[in-house]
Amino acid sequence: MTRNDTLFDRAQRSIPAGVNSPVRAFRSVGGTPRFLVRGAGCHVWDADGTRYIDYVGSWGPAIVGHAEPTVVRAVQARAADGLSFGAPTELEVEMAETLIRRLPSLELVRLVSSGTEATMSALRVARGYTGRSKIVKFEGCYHGHGDSLLVKAGSGALTFGQPSSAGVPPAIANETVVLPYNDAEALRALFAADGGAIAAVIVEPIAGNMNLVRPVPGFLETLRELCDAHGSVLIFDEVMTGFRVHPQGVQGLTGVTPDLTTLGKVIGGGMPVGAFGGKRAIMNVVAPLGPVYQAGTLSGNPVAVAAGLATLALTEAPGFYERLAARTRAFCDGLVSAARDAGVEFCADSVGGMFGLYFSPRVPTSYAEVMQGDKERFHRFFHAMLDAGVYLAPSAYEAGFVSAAHDDDALAATLAAARVAFAAARG
Ligand SMILES: *Cc1c(COP(=O)(O)O)cnc(C)c1O
Repeated sequence: MTRNDTLFDRAQRSIPAGVNSPVRAFRSVGGTPRFLVRGAGCHVWDADGTRYIDYVGSWGPAIVGHAEPTVVRAVQARAADGLSFGAPTELEVEMAETLIRRLPSLELVRLVSSGTEATMSALRVARGYTGRSKIVKFEGCYHGHGDSLLVKAGSGALTFGQPSSAGVPPAIANETVVLPYNDAEALRALFAADGGAIAAVIVEPIAGNMNLVRPVPGFLETLRELCDAHGSVLIFDEVMTGFRVHPQGVQGLTGVTPDLTTLGKVIGGGMPVGAFGGKRAIMNVVAPLGPVYQAGTLSGNPVAVAAGLATLALTEAPGFYERLAARTRAFCDGLVSAARDAGVEFCADSVGGMFGLYFSPRVPTSYAEVMQGDKERFHRFFHAMLDAGVYLAPSAYEAGFVSAAHDDDALAATLAAARVAFAAARG
């Protein structure tokens, strides 16, 4: 037994499936999850001392690499002065100002401790502001594990959703309508039928939780137009894409401005920080300014915010996103060329420091197309890469992440591993 196996056995005796978040259990790809003990730059080490080049990056936050020295110093310095007060601190003001300066749509912003909390709060704000209850989301988009958002599609585009988790009351699921991603016409039809009931449309403006799926031209623009016409709140869930794809998120990249934005992942730099914010007129409903209650004992935690601020400061270095995007693109191009040499049907796409790998003939634009990919091939590829020291997301339905710490050596080593792994994947 390896130390990873021993730890996994032990973990399962006290934690459901041995993990604190389901995808970590490797159920989709099979095998033993790696228990990680250390990270530095683009590398992580497991409990058996094996080193991997990491393309998960804590699912996005590690944009400057693991244990980046200025981030670590900021956390150590802050921690020495006390971990939490439950009273205002200057650091959280600095964080709010930084977010407002960088994102075109933010006028007021509140900090929370996770992406889930950010989306749950944004929905409540949208409902409180409009006095309506229906929410529209898109198939394959993940917005955290709040009740209203754990709903998948019914059969027709206009059917009301069924909960995709036990424990979500049908009465709550019924308030969520699920439409196919990139189907602006379905949204147009829904608004024509029931626009006055819709509090909010929430979308991952570039989807990253069904692998990477870009919005088709005009999709986000139509969302904006329909929400304006019907007085509904447009929420961009940029928990993954915020400060990952562009210095100003997808809203900066596309020029489409949401009413509310949710953030997480990169803004905490690996510590638990989330945020929701947007137009002043809408955020004015948040307690104690207004009647929508929202609170958190550890919200704006000084140590967590210090990690986030230090991380965001590093992303403001000149050319940071250009270099990150070029590196991520080179990684994708290298994989595509290795797959071609191995005779494996494969394609890849990237936006900024985020990428998608598809065992498909073309890059998908919807959940249905993502589902057509060759999952068994991905599983063989995943394990062959892991054996060769490359740690990819243990699921065919997750985006991956490159950090500023992935250098030429890491890229070359990854592509050498990929040549072997594609041959193994071909089967
Ligand atoms: C990760 C993620 C969330 C949930 O964030 P947590 O911090 O895991 O609660 C919400 N929305 C999107 C788009 C995400 O990628």
